[in-house]
Amino acid sequence: MVEIRMSGIDEDQRNRSIFRRDDREANCPLCKISDAEVLAEFPRWRLARTKTMKGHRERLMLYHKEHLKALDEQSIGEAYILLSKIGSKFFSYADKWAIFDPVYATVPDHWHRVASDLDRNALDYEQILKTPRMIIDNKEGTISRANPDKDFPKE
Ligand SMILES: [Zn+2]
Repeated sequence: MVEIRMSGIDEDQRNRSIFRRDDREANCPLCKISDAEVLAEFPRWRLARTKTMKGHRERLMLYHKEHLKALDEQSIGEAYILLSKIGSKFFSYADKWAIFDPVYATVPDHWHRVASDLDRNALDYEQILKTPRMIIDNKEGTISRANPDKDFPKE
């Protein structure tokens, strides 16, 4: 058996870091989403409507069940495939919709992706155009990417 020695200071630091983590999760808007607000649940993911719809008819968010900031590539791939399938149902009313890179994410500490239709009259349409995104064309059945910084390089 290995004896673990822990000085009083270490113990204090350990407790503080545990407190900090719990505190972060308790204050995390995604961790606080109630079961009633969850539209669909998967082994590792939850789907919910975003708190602010920003003038869209539909605006969704797929987030990891655990309070994780970063995920491995395979998990991210899984999330995109899942959200693509979900979106084809929820955004069937729209010609096109998109999954957005999290450059303007308000909750950067909890992995999630937002998807919405591309309604030009939406309140965030200007921001949408500036956000790198995966565009799903329901009519054409195609997926393309828009990288505003690359497509329109800053002077
Ligand atoms: Zn969280």
